[in-house]
Amino acid sequence: MDEPITLRTPLSALSGVGPARQKALLKLGLETVADLLAYFPRDYEDRTVQHDISALPLEEPVCFAALVAEPFRTSYIRRGMELTQGRIVDGTSTVYVTFFNQSYIRSALTPGETYHFYGRLTRNGNRLQISNPHFEKEGENRLTGGIMPVYPLTAGITGHLIASLQRQASACSDQVLETLPEDLRRAYALAPVEFAYREIHFPTGWDSLEKARRRLMFEELFCLTLGLTLLRGRRGTQKAAAFVRQDIDAFTNALPFSLTDAQLRSLREAAADLAKPVPMNRLLQGDVGSGKTVVAAACAWLAKENGRQSALMAPTELLARQHARTLTDLLSPLGMTVDLLTGSMTAKQKRLCRERLESGETDLIVGTHALLSDPVDFARLGLVITDEQHRFGVDQRAALTAKAGGEGARPHVLVMSATPIPRTLALMIYGDLDLSVIDQLPPGRTPVETFLIGEDKRQRLYDFVRKLAGQGRQVYIVCPAVDQEDPEGMKAAEQYGHKLRTQVFPDLRVGIVHGRQKPKEKNAVMSAFAAGELDVLVSTTVIEVGVDVPNAALMVIEDADRFGLSQLHQLRGRVGRGKHQSYCVLLSSNRAESTRRRLKTLCSTTDGFLIAEEDLKIRGPGDFFGSRQHGLPQLKLASLEGDMRLLHQAQAAAREVLREDPDLRREDHAPLRKRVEDLFRENRDIFN
Ligand code: ADP
Ligand code: MG
Repeated sequence: MDEPITLRTPLSALSGVGPARQKALLKLGLETVADLLAYFPRDYEDRTVQHDISALPLEEPVCFAALVAEPFRTSYIRRGMELTQGRIVDGTSTVYVTFFNQSYIRSALTPGETYHFYGRLTRNGNRLQISNPHFEKEGENRLTGGIMPVYPLTAGITGHLIASLQRQASACSDQVLETLPEDLRRAYALAPVEFAYREIHFPTGWDSLEKARRRLMFEELFCLTLGLTLLRGRRGTQKAAAFVRQDIDAFTNALPFSLTDAQLRSLREAAADLAKPVPMNRLLQGDVGSGKTVVAAACAWLAKENGRQSALMAPTELLARQHARTLTDLLSPLGMTVDLLTGSMTAKQKRLCRERLESGETDLIVGTHALLSDPVDFARLGLVITDEQHRFGVDQRAALTAKAGGEGARPHVLVMSATPIPRTLALMIYGDLDLSVIDQLPPGRTPVETFLIGEDKRQRLYDFVRKLAGQGRQVYIVCPAVDQEDPEGMKAAEQYGHKLRTQVFPDLRVGIVHGRQKPKEKNAVMSAFAAGELDVLVSTTVIEVGVDVPNAALMVIEDADRFGLSQLHQLRGRVGRGKHQSYCVLLSSNRAESTRRRLKTLCSTTDGFLIAEEDLKIRGPGDFFGSRQHGLPQLKLASLEGDMRLLHQAQAAAREVLREDPDLRREDHAPLRKRVEDLFRENRDIFN
């Protein structure tokens, strides 16, 4: 190396990186040494050699120190197959070692010397064996003798390469700027940045590794909170049309039912936002069936009263249609015009729809992503409502809000979600949103009865399905996968549906719907089910969100152990929406105690928040950050471990810092500010 490495050195300047690897590294988002240092292991392997061989587990990767007891010998089994064998020992056991086609090993292992070995031990009779182990001379450790980081990889990039690059990069890990002020570090017992970056890649022990991880996770959550808070603050400087006319009674009086207290509270919170000349940005959270749509409709009514149009975006065509129907029922008696725009409409239909929007004839447009496509212009868009927003990225939300146009004003935004996640986490995930919670179901609902059963009860279940169908009720049967390519043998909607239709329920009308069907096909089946033309609907989780068929009274979930608790709860929410007693049956042949306990939670409660808390305890917040497309910055470490306490600490720390330096303008906060900026790369204007 000619020049010393700095954080800005491109990885192509490190030894071992040619053009091909440079390209592959880029795929991992790695361009410079700084990127590499921030590329954290996803896991660690214990390759310390602290254990006697006799105490080591069999059939899993282990590391141990042993003495070569005899010269290794090669025998020729047949053409192209030679074995090199010998014995190694520690004070507790003897291990018979075999290498295949590696006769050079004979000279690499010297009798009487101690090496570190790494591989899987097996037992044959009372002999311990190991095949093709890695080995290194004691004191020359690269792969053994310590805690080995395991990095996320891609084609063309091996763990060895990353490790070698990290060794080179570590020369400048002391150049990484400290973002956390010292008093804050002391108050929360956080390790210094240099220690953290060294230890995360080259751990010297489990305790120090944990200290490093804690500091880096804290930093991540801390910066995330800071960024979100700043974003929220920035909203205060944006303009929106204030909906000053607030005759909510006119709306509620026209309803066929009275709103629950929780609905009223949420509506009042939203209405107060809407009355301000600043864009509302509110998350309306409520369990399935809690009645979010009515609250959204009330907001659209307020918009109309104030001469503004509203748009509601749904994640699927099916939901868009359903919303359009419900909202027409709710709003047309009040003289409002509701229209629908979806991708599958003909060009002419779309054009007419757009014309009605542009002329201002439409008061509320309901649609899918088609609403985002460019030619759509609103005469005076004042409110954007999105349903189940975790299916939309923040970007898409922004695309629609940008359509408000006119005098730099932005529309108000209401986001509806049925994912009942705890408040602190909701605020993190949905970022810069205020939160209203509908924590109460409309009166007169009978809770869904839930049962967990095994294969032995399958016939009785089928009888029950037939009995309900005989009473005119409808049944959902949900399977985890689409077809039998699935190696785990999970029930596949396609094949299973066919079997139910032809063999089990030849007397019933059975429909099949899954994500790989064309939207048209899917819609046709769903509409038939909604219209009561099918008795049984076999599906994958495409019916998870929002579908409303009040006559459905039984939800059967096959291989229920495959689903997360919250997802099961969502699925269950598809029934119990009408006046009939409804049931949910979880089928699972998984007998593991932890699985059964998890599924039993569902049988004992219908409280979505309780279930979400339970889910969170089991899976940790990482899952919420990791698997969802929420459009927020990706967290690298915080997703590895569920530590709510750390999140609360980071949030408290962020509040403290912002109290003293509301815009992070202070000189000593410069590194912190840069870090937040980097984390919110997509939101460059966060500090403007
Ligand atoms: P979700 O929160 O799951 O979107 P919906 O808005 O679809 O719930 O409401 C579920 C059902 O409850 C709808 O049929 C709706 O008309 C009805 N509903 C909503 N609010 C009330 C209420 N206050 N009283 C009676 N029924 C209500
Ligand atoms: Mg809904």
